[in-house]
Amino acid sequence: MATRPEHANTLHALFGGTFDPIHYGHLRPVEALAREVGLSQVTLLPNHVPPHRPQPEATPQQRLKMVELAIIDNPLFAVDDRELHRTTPSYTIETLETIRQQRGTALPLAFIIGQDSLLTLHKWHRWQALLEVCHLLVLARPGYHDRMDTPELQQWLEQHRVSDARLLSQQPQGYIYLADTPLLEISATEIRQRRHQGISCDDLLPRAVQRYIELQGLYR
Ligand code: ATP
Repeated sequence: MATRPEHANTLHALFGGTFDPIHYGHLRPVEALAREVGLSQVTLLPNHVPPHRPQPEATPQQRLKMVELAIIDNPLFAVDDRELHRTTPSYTIETLETIRQQRGTALPLAFIIGQDSLLTLHKWHRWQALLEVCHLLVLARPGYHDRMDTPELQQWLEQHRVSDARLLSQQPQGYIYLADTPLLEISATEIRQRRHQGISCDDLLPRAVQRYIELQGLYR
């Protein structure tokens, strides 16, 4: 994995996803987030999808290749393929704990999720431990409300929420930041469906990824 030297107060962010395939709904909001909060690097973490969950259509190698092609000319992004190399699935919290151990306790570290993921975060394994390891940066996503489902979850959000992005690099973990990123109505589900129906996906994902999808005959 290629990463830049890490400085004590530089906020580093990780962005996990199935990326089946990666698309502009992932890339553009994260680029805007990087400008908004001052991120110099974002590491994409393609997920190992456990066997009991619906399987991605692309193989882990194809999903990784699409991520690599999507970021090839963009120095903001790096990719960490550690989850794909595991023979057993790992929970996000476990991956983040390992990364935290490797990078030390002082480095400000953030995990990026979309608004839809925030709303279901309480279903994640040991979800409350996430804030003991990193900050959460939340991308706006069209079609998802901005209140949590229960008063307890809303209270949890408000307890940890900060609106001053400068705080994120002053503490290693523990804050939630709801970003004011552009709303892009793009999902991997829609891209797969459009491909199944033979509808063009231009403008939804990078050209190089589209070409790879064509060449590999993916999402037919
Ligand atoms: P699928 O449609 O297959 O469920 P997806 O498009 O939601 O996939 P994932 O790889 O599951 O993509 O998403 C990874 C992360 O990116 C999640 O935290 C998700 O909330 C976020 N995300 C995906 N699409 C968008 C979007 N258009 N705007 C903001 N966040 C997004």
